[in-house]
Amino acid sequence: MLAEPVRACQACGLHRTCRRPVPGSGPFDAQVFVIGQSPGATEDDEGKPFVGRAGAVLREALERNGISSFYLTNAVKCHPPGNRKARNEERTACFSWLLAELSLWQPLEDHLIVVLGEDASKTLFPDLKFTAARAATNLEFEGHPVKVILHPAALLHDMHKRAAFEQDIDKVADFLHPGHRLDYAANYQVFGRTIGFVEAWERAMGAGMIGLDAEFFPDLTMIGWSMSWASGEGIWVPRDAKHGIVLLDDLMDGRLDLVIHSVQADAPVICKALGMSPYDWPWNKVRDTAVAAYVMREPNIGLKDLTFKHFGVRMLNFNEMGGTPEAFAALPVEAQARYAVGDADFARRLWVEKYRDKVLYGV
Ligand code: URA
Repeated sequence: MLAEPVRACQACGLHRTCRRPVPGSGPFDAQVFVIGQSPGATEDDEGKPFVGRAGAVLREALERNGISSFYLTNAVKCHPPGNRKARNEERTACFSWLLAELSLWQPLEDHLIVVLGEDASKTLFPDLKFTAARAATNLEFEGHPVKVILHPAALLHDMHKRAAFEQDIDKVADFLHPGHRLDYAANYQVFGRTIGFVEAWERAMGAGMIGLDAEFFPDLTMIGWSMSWASGEGIWVPRDAKHGIVLLDDLMDGRLDLVIHSVQADAPVICKALGMSPYDWPWNKVRDTAVAAYVMREPNIGLKDLTFKHFGVRMLNFNEMGGTPEAFAALPVEAQARYAVGDADFARRLWVEKYRDKVLYGV
């Protein structure tokens, strides 16, 4: 509806230098209305928003967080020459297109405007510094809630911004579907604090099958390990917890079926912690959910992605835990448990509830 008039617009000088004006694109009942600053060179070539590398980062991050309904547009619709920033007068000239798009937007459900980067933020909120806009929790524009986040292009120039970008995307996802974080960790316990050796041992042996996961430093030294014996239940065992290693040793003796997401990552860590040879690892008792996901031709075999896809639960991601093994190791044990038991819990659930029958029996 607006695409043709946008393509014919001559309200500022940019129409003379750009190859193609880039109207917004997507359904007008989309849940999320994304506003970038101005089209890049790829968008200029194709006449569509967010089709270049920054767009790929953005789409992947939204979809990974269960956000599949979005309208994409820019505060300025024409690519400024030489990739320069749009000037104030160009932003002002283009502003009415953005307002027109917003007036057509009729989201069906909980909805949000997502503003990417400093320049777009300045267009909507000229009086707010970017850091303040990004930190704000109650921004609104034209009566719609707004989150201002880092621009995905920032990651292409500086990989260290990835963690901050992921956190911003998490804020967007938390706003849109807070229920998906429903306290999935409510029954996770800390070995040596809320549960002792005997009860933990009985739980594991009684279950017959447990999910297992290790957290570790780059040199494969274990920070701790987690196990789950039933959906939503499990324990975190910090490495130095008294008798924790004895318990782990018992679990590895071949009596139990084990489910691990990526044995390749965890087996060397557990072997090192137990002083055990990989030849003694109970290979015939272990199911690997990363391999199962590969066999099932899942498009993305990361545990957090699979958990969201199959259970609608958004697990904590490592960046929220500090982003490095050192930062994770320094957290309080309760926080470590919230994160780490999830890996054992959802690996087990994935196998028992989603994959086992398909992988073993093809049904
Ligand atoms: N960056 C933007 O802000 N908009 C686009 O359309 C592409 C990259």
